Amino acid sequence: MSARTVTVHTVDHGDVTIPEPSWCVEEHTFEAYRVDIQHTGPDLVLTVPAEGDVVPVFTAAIVKRPFSPQDPRTLVQLEVDEWRSFDAAGLDALAASLVEHAATLRKLARELSVLQEADQ
Ligand SMILES: [Zn+2]
Repeated sequence: MSARTVTVHTVDHGDVTIPEPSWCVEEHTFEAYRVDIQHTGPDLVLTVPAEGDVVPVFTAAIVKRPFSPQDPRTLVQLEVDEWRSFDAAGLDALAASLVEHAATLRKLARELSVLQEADQ
């Protein structure tokens, strides 16, 4: 793992110096509460063709909130988009994209598994 560290200025715990994962793209400067410190990997935007456009279905990113009381482990966070309409051809194109995205998500799951093992 990375030997980098980052110092985050917080209101409730002063300067907090923590290991910075190699995958993190977050600019850590200030966070009011230490519990809100979050490492975030690059956005992985999964799109599908819809209504003559290419729209995001969801965005995935590796995240870690090291001081979270709920779950301090490395996780993958998903942001989901809105309602769209499809005809039969559009639905076929959507299905093809989802199959492609399933392969991407399986690869991300393997990467996450390695990162979670490194957490322990
Ligand atoms: Zn970070």
